[in-house]
Amino acid sequence: MNATATTETRKFEAEVAQVLHLVTHSLYSHKEIFLRELISNASDACDKLRFESIAHPELATLGSELHIDVSWDSQARTVTISDNGIGMTRDEVIANIGTIASSGTKRFLEAMSGEQKADARLIGQFGVGFYSAFVVADKVTVRSRHAGAAASEGVQWESDGKGEYSLVQVSLPESGTSVVLHLKADEDEFLKRWQLRSLITKYSDHVAFPIRMPIEKDDKPTDEWEIINAASALWTKPKSEISDDDYKSFYKSLGHDFNEPLAWTHNRVEGSQSFTTLLYLPAQPPFDLMMGGRDERKGLKLYIKRVFIMDAAEELLPNYLRFVRGVVDADDLPLNVSREILQHNRQLERIKAACVKRVLDLIEKLARDEPEKFATFYKAFGNTLKEGISEDANNRERIAKLLRFASTKGEGTQQTVSLDDYIGRMAIGQEAIWYITADSYAAAFGSPQLEAFKAKGIEVLLMFDRIDEWMIGSLSEYEGKKLKSAAKGDVPLDDADKAKQEEATKEAEPLLKKLKDLLGDRVGDVKVSARLTDSPSCLALSDYEMAPHLARLLREAGQDMPESKPTLEINPQHALVKRVESETDDAKAKDLALLLLDQAEIAAGAQLPDPSAFVQRMNRVLLGT
Ligand code: ADP
Ligand code: MG
Repeated sequence: MNATATTETRKFEAEVAQVLHLVTHSLYSHKEIFLRELISNASDACDKLRFESIAHPELATLGSELHIDVSWDSQARTVTISDNGIGMTRDEVIANIGTIASSGTKRFLEAMSGEQKADARLIGQFGVGFYSAFVVADKVTVRSRHAGAAASEGVQWESDGKGEYSLVQVSLPESGTSVVLHLKADEDEFLKRWQLRSLITKYSDHVAFPIRMPIEKDDKPTDEWEIINAASALWTKPKSEISDDDYKSFYKSLGHDFNEPLAWTHNRVEGSQSFTTLLYLPAQPPFDLMMGGRDERKGLKLYIKRVFIMDAAEELLPNYLRFVRGVVDADDLPLNVSREILQHNRQLERIKAACVKRVLDLIEKLARDEPEKFATFYKAFGNTLKEGISEDANNRERIAKLLRFASTKGEGTQQTVSLDDYIGRMAIGQEAIWYITADSYAAAFGSPQLEAFKAKGIEVLLMFDRIDEWMIGSLSEYEGKKLKSAAKGDVPLDDADKAKQEEATKEAEPLLKKLKDLLGDRVGDVKVSARLTDSPSCLALSDYEMAPHLARLLREAGQDMPESKPTLEINPQHALVKRVESETDDAKAKDLALLLLDQAEIAAGAQLPDPSAFVQRMNRVLLGT
């Protein structure tokens, strides 16, 4: 076919129209981002062609001088971004920019319209970057020819971004893609060379392909082209030649984060297997991580001898380090690797272990030398890191060393106490590291189970992040010291306590029996507590029992949790307990006994089985009726 080809008009998918609307409205204050997004697509297309030409050498000649051109036309009021990368077939154009196949659209819509509005500048994370073109353009023309396809098989896509687009077959002399932006009336600033140029340097300096612009003469573009960006694979340079600013701008060019990185580590390993890693810690969680998204992990790019192979975060990093961004460039992997091969590749295992080591080294260094940065890191990713305690048994001690907690001897709610700090100030004769889990700082700190610990000056770590209860299940020991829950099992703190408690139990036998009778099958057992000094009662869990606050959360999340009967511990010295003891009226004694249990359950964050019965009971006691 040729110029007589008919034009077909199609409607955008409903979701695309929605995305377009959101993008154009929410990105308006950062409209220059369109250039970064379109250059990033052009760069991806060049990467793809370079990769394709490994398996199809006949494409290689096409790709020998991959580049990206940015030009402008003041008369026509257009800006054009073109590349000689992989290009698109007609079907691909429809699939890639007329519909949005990836889950990106959905996530983007959720993020942008949800309560917690995403920063629109993060658009690149969602796979909808192309549409940023419509922030500055009221018409966009895409011409594309797939590498290897005949000149006549070009396709032209055009749209005003208002719900429809047109498609027509055209003849294109070269393969690749060009995107022509017909600028809106008030967007003349993008017709200035210096403006485009400064945006390229700002956002795209480290794109690995040359970005070229026409040289200007008498205010007009000429036929001569000049390379604008650094266009080098930064990680291949010697460290001594890279400035902090280079590292920072390279990080931004990776395209996942608009902010500066917190820290980075750049290493070259030479030997039987040589590779380079450049790994970054972000300063803030990316949107995905905040949303709990674990699928589609992006952010770590695998190169083989400078050829981009794929996003391989999952193959190169364990889940608990999924916040790490960067580049791994291996010398010795076969260029035609597939994801399947990668998953079982021994060389890759070694690279992965090296990445983990580098990242942990880096975090350790922050903890040691840069406490403020470490605090920023920990706030953003501490809870993610905790997953490593169960996920990475080999590095468990190293990870545990990095954890920070609030503590009965710490600074309020701040999580700053390390296990080493704790061990360093353990009392003589103290063997265990004591902790308690709860669903808030207040619930942990105020827990009646800690009274005896506080009275004796024994420090207890206060854990109130949701993951803690789960994490601690995999951390039974640290530096040879057992970690023990202050809420579980028997806690006679020393031999003297033990003797005292035995005596108290003997003395309280009739009382214990009375309580058991009154409470019936609401409790498994009633015991004299070694934990309490001020409160009348608390719950005690067996070593393997789940903390009540967690059981409640899981139940609320719809999980079937077995009903377990709690052990109630009482403080026989407490006036309220004494009142139960002396109360002769059965009904009144029962109310009092149940209130002892109710308040123990409330303090432990458990769910009261019958809240209205509790309220009535409390009112009867308050009124003395
Ligand atoms: P993303 O780049 O995250 O996939 P975009 O909205 O930026 O999302 O682009 C959508 C898709 O359109 C790309 O994945 C790619 O398949 C296709 N595409 C966009 N620009 C180009 C280009 N210059 N060359 C080839 N394909 C492109
Ligand atoms: Mg893109």
